[in-house]
Amino acid sequence: MINDFFKLFFPDNCPGCGHSFLRGEKYVCLQCLYGLHKTQYHNDPENPIAKNFWGKTDFGAVTAVYFFQKGQVLQRLLHQLKYNGCKEIGIMLGRQMAMELFQASAFRNADIIIPVPLHPGKLLQRGFNQSEMIALGMAEYWEKEVHTETLKRKKYTQSQTHKARYERFENTESVFELDNIKSYEDKHVLLVDDVISTGSTIISCAEAFSGISGCKISMASVAAPHR
Ligand SMILES: [Zn+2]
Repeated sequence: MINDFFKLFFPDNCPGCGHSFLRGEKYVCLQCLYGLHKTQYHNDPENPIAKNFWGKTDFGAVTAVYFFQKGQVLQRLLHQLKYNGCKEIGIMLGRQMAMELFQASAFRNADIIIPVPLHPGKLLQRGFNQSEMIALGMAEYWEKEVHTETLKRKKYTQSQTHKARYERFENTESVFELDNIKSYEDKHVLLVDDVISTGSTIISCAEAFSGISGCKISMASVAAPHR
């Protein structure tokens, strides 16, 4: 009975492993949280993501904090965040990223954090941008500014949906636009996303800042596929 009473107020099980939460645990159990597989990419400027980005855009540093594997805890957490509206998981993962990258000055020295904007249609459907939740978690821990209004994803045009896949990839370059360009002069901006896979989205975001005097871009995501 006591257990049922407790569950009335704390009804959830851990979305990572399905076990009931222990006292003090919230959103994700500690075992799942500490069991996430770290990439340590922030300690390696020549990590696989960086190598993949070379020659595609100018950037300071890039990392993904955890490996993403199908069927594993992190996939379930990101699913809860994106499709079940569990914003708190995003904030918590952001905080966790900020802790992991705390000593990594290449990221920690950023002046402003900007989440990769969601496609406007998806934003309407989902009600929030999961990357914004992650950025907010990081910014809270690091006490940094988050900008969510200046970088925008333009709507796809009708013609684009009919183009071949490789052409669309080329086209993603022009999908983002940036307002208030002046405010990014001589600033270090950290772009944040939930997952970096091919990198085409976050590279397109970085491109929106190209040519701004003294502006440096770095990039970080919660997850990247295991290579
Ligand atoms: Zn768990």
